[in-house]
Amino acid sequence: MQLDGIHHITCITADAPINVDFYARVLGLRLVKQTVNFDAPDVYHLYYGDERGAPGSILTFFEFPGAAPGRAGAGMIHSLRWRLSTPEALEFWAGRLESEGVACEHVPGESALRFRDPEGLTLELAVVATADPPLAAESEGIPSEHALLGFDGVRAYSHGLRTAERLLTEVMGFTQAAPGAYVLQGGRRSASYAYDEPPAALGLQGAGTVHHIAWCDRDSDHEAWREHLHEVGAHPTPIIDRQYFLSVYFREPQGVLFELATPSPGFAVDEDPDHLGEELRLPPRYEHLRGRLEQLLTPLENPRTRAARP
Ligand code: ZN
Repeated sequence: MQLDGIHHITCITADAPINVDFYARVLGLRLVKQTVNFDAPDVYHLYYGDERGAPGSILTFFEFPGAAPGRAGAGMIHSLRWRLSTPEALEFWAGRLESEGVACEHVPGESALRFRDPEGLTLELAVVATADPPLAAESEGIPSEHALLGFDGVRAYSHGLRTAERLLTEVMGFTQAAPGAYVLQGGRRSASYAYDEPPAALGLQGAGTVHHIAWCDRDSDHEAWREHLHEVGAHPTPIIDRQYFLSVYFREPQGVLFELATPSPGFAVDEDPDHLGEELRLPPRYEHLRGRLEQLLTPLENPRTRAARP
């Protein structure tokens, strides 16, 4: 069995309208789904990605309105990195972020930019040479050759001894690239996962923090992965239907919440692929709540809808 890189990364926001403006308009990702948190349907679950919401491009946010700012600590992912194709793209982004009032810095020794989202989450854009398919979205004001091309990897905080290494290398198929740094290769898409020493302060889940990362498996392997994780003592959950994919969750030994998610059925399962993310979609079991939820949730405008308007 082979994992195919990152499926999605899920974070927390306290303010969905600001979140949509930043990720869909400023960064140019496509808002591919407006739905609710299936475990707590009173709050939004927003999905961003490339044109179709392909695994490897998907960033999701739970909205907890008014949530206090969090901070990343041990056992939490603290930064996300997307790929760009060329140094010209990197310079385009340095200019675009500056014009949007987003402070950014060049990462020393790398062809990469580092900045923060409106709630303090650390993000990076890096020029990466890869044969992986580019996972880009079309967006007004962003030339297609400069678009974000899907995730490259993430970094997490962990103290010294890394008991996660066996799970990563022997069970999940990562290889160690450097001390505390791992790469997932050989599948349809590669990804990196690395640890840094955590800050002194304890981590706090809240606005601007990462909730979990999902790795992409294959539809026919999902049950076997769950069995395998169970056999090695990783305590996976039962398979859970997330409407757009099937999921199992487990915690890696350093404390980061992992998920394995399937590529199917994808985001076109409940709406026209040309109009993804333009209206609130609910799974059948929550349709009866639609009236109440539409009153409760702050209305959002997908920048794609606005751009299409004559
Ligand atoms: Zn997830």
